[in-house]
Amino acid sequence: MSEGASYDALLRDTAVALTAAGIDNARFEARLLLSHATGLTVEQLISRGPDPAPASARTALRDLTARRVRREPMAYILGEREFWGLPFKVSPAVLVPRPDSETVIETVLDLLPDRSRKLRILDLGLGSGCLLLTLLREYPQASGVGIDASEAALAIARANAEALGVASRARLAIGDWRQAGWSERLDGPFDLLVSNPPYIESAAVEGLMPEVATHEPRLALDGGTDGLAAYRIITAQAPKLVVPGGWAVVEVGERQAPEIASLFAAAGLAPQSARKDLGGIERVVPAQY
Ligand code: GLN
Repeated sequence: MSEGASYDALLRDTAVALTAAGIDNARFEARLLLSHATGLTVEQLISRGPDPAPASARTALRDLTARRVRREPMAYILGEREFWGLPFKVSPAVLVPRPDSETVIETVLDLLPDRSRKLRILDLGLGSGCLLLTLLREYPQASGVGIDASEAALAIARANAEALGVASRARLAIGDWRQAGWSERLDGPFDLLVSNPPYIESAAVEGLMPEVATHEPRLALDGGTDGLAAYRIITAQAPKLVVPGGWAVVEVGERQAPEIASLFAAAGLAPQSARKDLGGIERVVPAQY
């Protein structure tokens, strides 16, 4: 990038570098990186396009671009991702919140339409906290317990709970369903259990897109040999964790819905038909106890 380059020139150079790295939407992402590097809004960047950019912005942009060229997810570079219209802090310790997971929120709102209920909600595998914390915003009288096996993830979820103003209604703790007795200290049972557990088959993780395979936490992705390890544990405990009449609503991987519905049924819950995400994939399995 040349000395005294304008914002427009930096934008162009960045878009070229991202395109060469095989990234779609290169110009859009370049704008976001330039905005992050300069502290200017996208609108300001457009109106100041021909002005020379300060050297500090050029250096910052070069570092951000190098990270993106290595296929680090945009959300980690920017430190934030929107979910259900809310800003969630993210780090490489947590899965980037995905639009697919908003199907969990939609399903819950559909099954439990009374927003004034004092629901008690449990989230298994919090990550950023996007499921539990969004639900606490949607149900202002609800309270929640969330666990995650990762200290670093828990720190992010706690920061999000504070920033979103729901920390006083959320008890977030370390917890690992791979360890015996994990479900005993949760203060259950709950009206609602939600989870987006790891569901990728172990052998398939490396074949995911590089943003996911190389940068997202394996702990949040790897669902064991057949992808269903976490669901076996969660469904088996569901009768202890959910009140009679209460719901379990879980995100699932592509083509997993029928098997997960069977796991719920075997545990004594009544699965409903799966809910589809915007891509038409069966993404959420609700089951009532
Ligand atoms: N939705 C993620 C993906 O397909 C996986 C999330 C998960 O395993 N829970 O990359």
